Formats: sequence, C-alpha cells, structure tokens
Amino acid sequence: MKDRYDVIIVGAGPAGIFAALELAAAGGLDILLLEKGQGLERRSCPVLTRGIACPPCIPCDLVSGWGGAGAFSDGKLTLSPEVGGRLKDYLGLPALNQLIGQVDDTYRRFGAKDHIFGLGEEVGELQRRASLAELRLLPVPIRHVGTERCREVLAAMRDHLAPRVDISTGVAAAAVRVVGGQLQGLETQDGRVIACRHLILAPGREGTEWLTGEAHRLGLTLHINPVDVGLRVEVPAPVLEELTSSLHEAKLEYYSKTFDDRVRTFCMCPQGEVTMETTGGSDPVITVNGHSYAERKTGSSNFALLVSTTFTEPFREPTAYGKYLARLANILSGGVIVQRLGDLREGRRSTPARLQRALTHPTLGSATPGDLSAVLPYRYLTDLLEMLEAMDRLAPGVASRHTLLYGVEVKFYSSRLELTPTLETQVPNVFAAGDGAGVTRGLIQASASGVVAAREILQRLKVKAGA
Ligand SMILES: Cc1cc2nc3c(=O)[nH]c(=O)nc-3n(C[C@H](O)[C@H](O)[C@H](O)COP(=O)(O)OP(=O)(O)OC[C@H]3O[C@@H](n4cnc5c(N)ncnc54)[C@H](O)[C@@H]3O)c2cc1C
Repeated sequence: MKDRYDVIIVGAGPAGIFAALELAAAGGLDILLLEKGQGLERRSCPVLTRGIACPPCIPCDLVSGWGGAGAFSDGKLTLSPEVGGRLKDYLGLPALNQLIGQVDDTYRRFGAKDHIFGLGEEVGELQRRASLAELRLLPVPIRHVGTERCREVLAAMRDHLAPRVDISTGVAAAAVRVVGGQLQGLETQDGRVIACRHLILAPGREGTEWLTGEAHRLGLTLHINPVDVGLRVEVPAPVLEELTSSLHEAKLEYYSKTFDDRVRTFCMCPQGEVTMETTGGSDPVITVNGHSYAERKTGSSNFALLVSTTFTEPFREPTAYGKYLARLANILSGGVIVQRLGDLREGRRSTPARLQRALTHPTLGSATPGDLSAVLPYRYLTDLLEMLEAMDRLAPGVASRHTLLYGVEVKFYSSRLELTPTLETQVPNVFAAGDGAGVTRGLIQASASGVVAAREILQRLKVKAGA
C-alpha cells in the first residue's frame, strides 16, 4: 500500500469492484481498493459449512470480504431499472437502461450464464392471475448466476484487477479526512493515513452505520429511507414451481387492507436454503436471508416477505428500529425463530415436535422453533398474513399451515446520503455508491452505481473510460 493514490475505493462489493474495473480500464491511475473483510477463498460461513447457529463472527464472512454481500448471494441479476435501487432518480431512465446493459455485459464477460428468466409468453397470464388475487406482478428479466458461480465470476474479476489495482483486504476504513471542506485522504483502522484525490465510499449494508457516523461527523445531509421488516417464508418447492420456472423470482406487491402498507416479495430462492447473517457493525444482530445454488438443489423454496413503512418526523433512525426488532428475535432464540404458519394462526409457539410434522422441510436447521408474534408488532404480522392469503390465490399452498416462517428479515437500506446525479457527496471528490449510500438494493444497480462514480472521476481527470 502506498501513501498516496489518485482514487481510493472503500468496500470490495459489487459497487466497489465495478468502480475499480472502470477506473482500471482507463489505465495509468493509482487506485487502492480497501476491504475490511477477508479475501474470497478465506471467506466461509460456519452456519453454511457446519450447520451451527450464527456465532456471530465480526466481520460476518457472509456479507464482508472480496465480493461483499454479493459473494454468497444467489446471483440473481435483475435487469430492470424498476427494482434494486433508485438510480433512475439520479440518471434518468434511458441512461440507466443503457448502463444496466453495460453492467450485464461485464458480468457475462466474467462468466455469468446466458439464460434470462422472465421473458416467456406465460408471464402475461401470470400477471392476469396475480391481479385477480389483488397482487401486482412486476415482470423482471433475471439472469441467474447462482451462488457457486457468483464466486467464480468475482474471482475472475479479482484476477483481472490484481495487476492493475492495489487490493487490500482485512483493512477497514476508519475516517474520511477533510480539511477546510477539501478531501485530504483516508484514515484506516490500523492507524495509517493515505492521501487521495478522489474517494468512493461503497461500504454496503454492513458499513451503513460507519458511513452514517461519518456523514454526521462531516455534516452531510441524510434522508430517511423506508424501513423494510418481515419474514422469510419457506414452502415445498412445487408450491412455487409455476412462478419460479418461468420467472425465477416473482416480484409481487400487495397493499394491505388493514393498514394500506406496501408488502412485497423479495429474493425468491427456488429449491434453495434459508440462511442466517450477522449485520450491524460493532453492535451486530442476527437476521435471516436466503440462497439458491446453481447445482445444489433442495426440496424447498423460500422468499422474503417485507413490509415497507415510511415513518415520519421525529423518527430518524430506521437502522436502529430494524435492529431493535431483530434483537427481540435474537433474545428469544439466540438467533432466528422458525414457526409453522398454522401455529402462528393458532396463537401457539412451534416446538421441535410440531416442526417435525410440517410438510415443509426446514433448510435452516439451526433456527429455534418459537413464536414470532412475540417479536413482530401487530401491524407487520397483519400485513404479512394478508399478503400470504393473497399469494395463496396465485400459488395454492403458500398460506398452508405447513408453511414455515423465519424471523426476522430486515433490510437496512439505511439513510440515504444527499448525492448529485454523479453520486458525489457534499464534499467535493468524495463519492458514495451502492447499498451503503442508500441508493441501491441489489447487485446490478450497486454495480452500476460504482460505474457512475468512476466515470465522473475519469471525466475530471480527463481520462477516457475504457481506454
Ligand atoms: C445472502 C444474500 C443474497 C443476495 N442475493 C441477491 C441476489 O440474488 N440478487 C441481487 O441483486 N442482490 C442480492 N443480494 C444483495 C446484494 O448482494 C447487494 O445488494 C450488493 O452486494 C450490494 O453491493 P455493495 O457493493 O453496495 O455492498 P456490499 O456487497 O455489501 O459490499 C460492501 C463491502 O464493503 C465492506 N466494508 C464495509 N465497511 C467498510 C469499511 N469501513 N472499510 C472497508 N470495507 C468496508 C464490506 O465488508 C463489504 O465487503 C443478496 C444479499 C445477500 C446478503
């Protein structure tokens, strides 16, 4: 590591990696990519490898390290400007569409498969049936990379970047140095001070709290994003087969009768596995997530069901609110609670014996059978139960008493930094990209946001992109 760079990038998730790819392609720049987690091959999650309860590890190998949260992700590349972030607000639709195409091409160049889900003729009929069930089905083209292949793609990107960019893993950024409103450089947690002309902050959801803290310290404006709280739902794979075989992931939206809240499906994992993850930096909580592997299939499919609520003033802490709910589940169960839908409706907890009688096989063996009504507020439970009933009309069996619910799933979209259309913060030459900046929520838009910041830097340095 040198003591001065043209550009420092914080975070080696999709946003940081795509920024590095763009900058490196121009040639002739000194670039440092700083990542607090481990290198790709050293990342391993004990919940996945040993089937134990989440310890938890700090940092969590599931969401930290080369590849960021994307490394263990299911690799569903959603090729639509309507999902996975709000870059449309910054770039406009035509520019975002073009950028999504370019980012997708890059994923393919590094090994993503050709097949795209969600383009078949049957999609129109599914949309029609969804509307009869009071659901909106958003048709979204999806390229499914698969969890194992996702790592291969990320390894290929690293091998390409290694001779062109200084990559430093296991080193956390501690503070952005700004003097008199001008960027000076970055301080690392191990006490180094590195000077730079430009900085791209892409710390992901894992780095949300750090970034928010830096924003407060530097006096940057933050906007409140909605809080997304919900459950992971697991059903026998045939229940979702009609949807997943043509769409891979059905993006369904519902507005609840009782509260008029928006409830949506998220991250559908056909024949996949439910997982745990640790998020929240120095004050971590254990939450639920899901994967599906390209080659390793299970008999169950899972998806998240999330309620989006925008609370108003004086509410300012969406992350603290989400963590509070997750912590309730952690206190009661040591991690994640699993409950049969039938037990929840009957007002009783699930027990190991009751769980054994469920037709759905629980793929997260280390979840504790319990009672989710002791965790989620009435509003959320009502919204979620209503949506399950609506989905049952589209995919019979979703609201069966054998359906398994894991809680809680929280998406820390955090606060959103005030950014220009090129994703520059209020400090000149400091850019923020990806999920941590609150502008994206998925692989494609996170990657695209890194490209946006990098292109603006190249423009300022008068270096041609892709030169
Ligand atoms: C299990 C799972 C499955 C998913 N599946 C999908 C999917 O199928 N499709 C999809 O579109 N999205 C999926 N996602 C979401 C997707 O992975 C994220 O949207 C995406 O990775 C965000 O990219 P990012 O670069 O903004 O942040 P991240 O990928 O979170 O990367 C940020 C990186 O910054 C590092 N960092 C944080 N703070 C610091 C610091 N202070 N110093 C140095 N480094 C720091 C972190 O360790 C991390 O490696 C999934 C996520 C998970 C967890």
